[in-house]
Amino acid sequence: MFQKILIANRGEIALRVLRACKELGIQTVAVHSTADADAMHVRLADESVCIGPPAAKDSYLNVPSLLSACEITGADAVHPGYGFLSENARFAEILTEHGVHFIGPKPEHIRLMGDKIEAKRTAQKLGIPVVPGSEGALKSDQDALAVARDIGFPVLVKAAAGGGGRGMKVADTAADLPVALATARAEAKAAFGDDAVYLEKYLATPRHIEIQVLGDGRGNAIHLGERDCSLQRRHQKVLEESPSPALNASARAEIGEIVAAAMRQIKYLSAGTVEFLYQDGRFYFIEMNTRIQVEHPVTEMITDIDLVLEQIRVADGAALAIDQKDVEFHGHAIECRINAENPVSFRPSPGRIVHYHPPGGMGVRVDSAAYQGYAIPPYYDSLLGKLIVHGKTRGECLMRLKRALDEFVVDGVETTLPLFRALVRDKDVLDGAYHIHWLEAFLASGGLEE
Ligand code: ADP
Repeated sequence: MFQKILIANRGEIALRVLRACKELGIQTVAVHSTADADAMHVRLADESVCIGPPAAKDSYLNVPSLLSACEITGADAVHPGYGFLSENARFAEILTEHGVHFIGPKPEHIRLMGDKIEAKRTAQKLGIPVVPGSEGALKSDQDALAVARDIGFPVLVKAAAGGGGRGMKVADTAADLPVALATARAEAKAAFGDDAVYLEKYLATPRHIEIQVLGDGRGNAIHLGERDCSLQRRHQKVLEESPSPALNASARAEIGEIVAAAMRQIKYLSAGTVEFLYQDGRFYFIEMNTRIQVEHPVTEMITDIDLVLEQIRVADGAALAIDQKDVEFHGHAIECRINAENPVSFRPSPGRIVHYHPPGGMGVRVDSAAYQGYAIPPYYDSLLGKLIVHGKTRGECLMRLKRALDEFVVDGVETTLPLFRALVRDKDVLDGAYHIHWLEAFLASGGLEE
C-alpha cells in the first residue's frame, strides 16, 4: 500500500481525500497556495508544502511545483481530487515518469473522454445509447445545417473540448444556427483554446441521470447506481439525489449493466461517471467524467462504499474487492451544494465566516473545509460545503434535509442556504417532478422571493 499520498487540491475535496488516507493509515501531504495557508486541509495533513501564489495557474495547476513537493516529501502517490489537474492526462503521465502513482484512471482513458466527440464515438461503439447528432466535429455551417435539418430543430451546438457548460448554444430554427455556431466557437476558443464544435438534438425536458462506476484496470468493473442531478443552474449542478425519482430497479439495473460492461471492455481503472440525459424512458449519453465527482457522497450514503478509498486501493494495483451482486442500495440520499454566494444574484461572497454551526444528527453528513473564523479567499470556486442527508425513504430524507438546513448557521458571508430551504418546501421538488430546466424557471419566476 502507498506510504504517503500528496493531495493536489484544496477545500472540501482535499479534506475528503485526507480522511480516506487517515482511515487507511497512509501519511498525507497537503499542498496550498499562499492564500490557503490557514486552510483546514493544511491544518489536518501530516505535512504541508506551499506551492505558489494565489492564482490557480501558479499553484494548484503548477506541475513543476507539485513534482518538487512530491520529491521533497517523498510522496509515492498523488490524488488530484476534482477540477484542477484531475482530468489532465499529461499530468498523470508526468507523475508516472517521475515514479509517482496517479490515483485516477489510465491517461489514455482521461484523454479519450476529455475529447467529447471521441468520447461519444467510443460510447456508441461500446453499446451505450447516445444523443442523435453530427458524426464528429462540424466542418462548416452548411454541414451543420444539413445535420440539423436531418435530426430536426431545436439543436444544441456543443464544444468538443467542453466543460462546465461553456461553449454550448441552442438554435431553435435554421435562422438561429449561424449565430449559435459562431458564439459557441468563440466561447470554446476562449475557454479551451479549441474551437471545434459538434451538434446534438436539443432535448427539451430531460433529466440528468449519471451512473457511478468503479473499475480496477484489469477488466473488473461495477456500477453503483445512478444520481439524479437535474436541478441545475447554468448547467451547473445544485442538488443531487439517489435513487432518481424517475427510475425503477429494472431500469437502473439495465443501464447500469450497459455501462459496467463498457467499462469492463475498456479495462477502466478508478472511479468514473457516465452522464446521460433521460427523457421519455430513454437514456442519451452526454459525457464521461474520469474523476471523483463533487456529488459522490450521495452514492456512498446509499451503498456504504467509500469511493475515495476504493480509488486508492485500485490505484495501488489491488483487484476490485466488490462484486456487482454485493452492491446493495438502501434508502435515499440528497446532497445540497452550498455556495458562498448571494442566493438571488449568485454573486460570489468571499470573506470571513464569523459564526459557523453545521447541522448534525442521524443521517447527516457535512463535507466542508469551512470553520468559524475562516476567511474564504476570492480566488477559487465558491463551494462552501456539501450537506448530504440520508433517510430510509425519500420522504424521510426530505424531512431530515429540511431540519438540517434549518440548523445550518453560516454568518459573515452570504450563502445559498435560503435557496435550498425554499427548494425543500416546493411541491415539484417534494414530488420529484423536475427536469434540467426546472430550476432556471423556478428562479426566473422569483421562486425565492415568494
Ligand atoms: P459540460 O461538459 O460542459 O458540462 P455536458 O455535455 O455534460 O457539458 O452538458 C452539461 C449540461 O448541458 C447537461 O447536464 C444538460 O443540462 C445540458 N445538455 C447537454 N446536452 C444537451 C442536449 N443534447 N439537450 C439538452 N440539454 C443538454
